[in-house]
Amino acid sequence: MDHFLYRDGALFAEDVPVAEIAAAVGTPFYLYSTATLLRHFRLFDEALDGTDHLVCYAMKAASNQAILRTLAQAGAGMDVVSQGEYLRARAAGVPGGKIVFSGVGKTAEEIRTALAGGIRQFNVESEPEMEVLNAVALEMGKVAPVTLRVNPDVDARTHAKIATGKSENKFGIPIARARAAYARATALPGLEVIGIDVHIGSQLTELAPFEAAYAKVAELTETLRADGHDIRRLDLGGGLGIPYARSNEAPPLPLEYCAMIKRVLGHLDCEIEIEPGRLIAGNAGIMVSRVIYVKSGEGRDFLIVDGAMNDLIRPAMYEAYHDIVPVIEPEPGLERRPYDIVGPVCETGDTFARGRDLPPLAAGDLIAFRSAGAYGAVMASEYNTRPLIPEVMVNGDQFAVIRPRPSYEEMINRDTIPPWL
Ligand SMILES: *Cc1c(COP(=O)(O)O)cnc(C)c1O
Repeated sequence: MDHFLYRDGALFAEDVPVAEIAAAVGTPFYLYSTATLLRHFRLFDEALDGTDHLVCYAMKAASNQAILRTLAQAGAGMDVVSQGEYLRARAAGVPGGKIVFSGVGKTAEEIRTALAGGIRQFNVESEPEMEVLNAVALEMGKVAPVTLRVNPDVDARTHAKIATGKSENKFGIPIARARAAYARATALPGLEVIGIDVHIGSQLTELAPFEAAYAKVAELTETLRADGHDIRRLDLGGGLGIPYARSNEAPPLPLEYCAMIKRVLGHLDCEIEIEPGRLIAGNAGIMVSRVIYVKSGEGRDFLIVDGAMNDLIRPAMYEAYHDIVPVIEPEPGLERRPYDIVGPVCETGDTFARGRDLPPLAAGDLIAFRSAGAYGAVMASEYNTRPLIPEVMVNGDQFAVIRPRPSYEEMINRDTIPPWL
């Protein structure tokens, strides 16, 4: 469910016509719906009602300050994976006590920043990280709260580039080594072991892989408790998928996912953390783009649009499907025709869709890429010296630019010429 719907023949974002924003801001741009962000956060938060829990939004999915503040004001914590994300979360008003720090390559400097500013816990991903964390904590006279991220060796049945829970992936400590790792962590005076962390991948469309991983976490909890560890918090990661194509079977709902969590882990009486990213932000954002040319090729028509792979890389990177819709609602019964939808970047990979059936479109028409809120703007680059596209947020009948388009001058002046030139 989202708040990008046709009304009176035109696409609206909540109560604002998308075409009106396009006229004010210029294309292409990202557009987020406050109501959809909040709705998705609350689906998780309310489904875990009655359980001691914190929903930590995985902010790598979409990390604009306005998005973070919207979610933080609703009570969300944050899952961060870098010092930059930690500082961004703090700048948006998230207290350190609601931030968890994940990631395989935390440097001593990153750890220092989080320990100094306050942190809910570090999700430690390796034995060497444990030693560095201990050394930094001791040097600062602090004790770092930690969970160890275990790799449960479960096939998430998702795209290979976003599967993280198999033994060949770089993430976490192999679950078979967990007891030894926990013994070592407990022996380090700079660490306080409080729980277990797991995250098996992204865009999962079935509950079974989650359940398999969580069953292993339940078993490990009992084993570690028997070993004398005070396991009181379980961080279960993110990864629940979203329906990118309306024709596809819908992934499980947050309610079903949370019911499974309670069923598999409820008896352990642990505090539960989850880290959804895509499910909160994905369908809360669209990318709006304008047709530059309609070009007829050999046996196919190309829709050349002003958005490109540098703005939204998911199709090029993950073979991802995005629903693409015209901003003017097509008349019912209008004949559709197949288009290859491509951007202006000089790469064949700059292709959003092939043979996509759309109503006839002409130069100047606006289209929207749906489900672009997660892993969209955050993965954008300036490839081909294209400015990062603006981000806009709607709230009811208001909208605001939450990141302006940089000028060409700003982009170019970031480079510096060495003295010998
Ligand atoms: C990316 C990531 C998430 C969020 O994944 P989604 O598929 O966006 O829900 C959560 N936790 C960790 C550790 C991650 O790396």
